[in-house]
Amino acid sequence: MTLPPPPDPEPEVTLPVAVQRPEASSASVRARMQKQMRRDTDPEVQVRRRLHAAGIRYRVDNKLEADLRTRGDIVWRGLRIAVFIDGCYWHGCPLHATRPKANADWWARKLDGNVTRDRRADATLAARGWKVLRYWEHESPDAVADAVIVEIQRRRAATA
Ligand SMILES: [Zn+2]
Repeated sequence: MTLPPPPDPEPEVTLPVAVQRPEASSASVRARMQKQMRRDTDPEVQVRRRLHAAGIRYRVDNKLEADLRTRGDIVWRGLRIAVFIDGCYWHGCPLHATRPKANADWWARKLDGNVTRDRRADATLAARGWKVLRYWEHESPDAVADAVIVEIQRRRAATA
C-alpha cells in the first residue's frame, strides 16, 4: 500500500507549540488530510472482512473497560482479546513513520505521546487479563486475520 504523506500544517504558530494544533493551510489540504484519515482505516476494514468471511463475529471500536479510555479496533469482550491496527504515521511504525519539518516540536510531542499512551494502554490491559494484539496498517490483512484467528482459538480452548 502507499504510505500517507505527513499532514501539511500551517507553519505560523502563535500559541505555545504544546497547546495549538496546527491548522490545515487551505481547504484543499484539509480535504486531503481527511481523505487520508479515512484511507488509514482501510486496513482494519480488510482484516474485519476476512474475519467475517471466516465466520467470526466481533465488536468494532469498542471501549474495553468502563474506567479506561482505550478503545480496541476489533474486540472480543468474553475472550478479552483486543486488536489494534495502528497507523504507521500516528503510532510510529519503525519502517514508515516520518516527522514533518514544519511545527516539528508540536508533532514530536504529539507523536511521541501517542506511542507512550499505546505502551501504557498495553501494560494496563495486560494486567487486567486482556490479550492485546497490535499490528501495523502496512501488514498483510491476510496474515493479520490469520494471527488473530489463531489467538481466538487459543483463548477459546483455554476457557473451554
Ligand atoms: Zn509501517
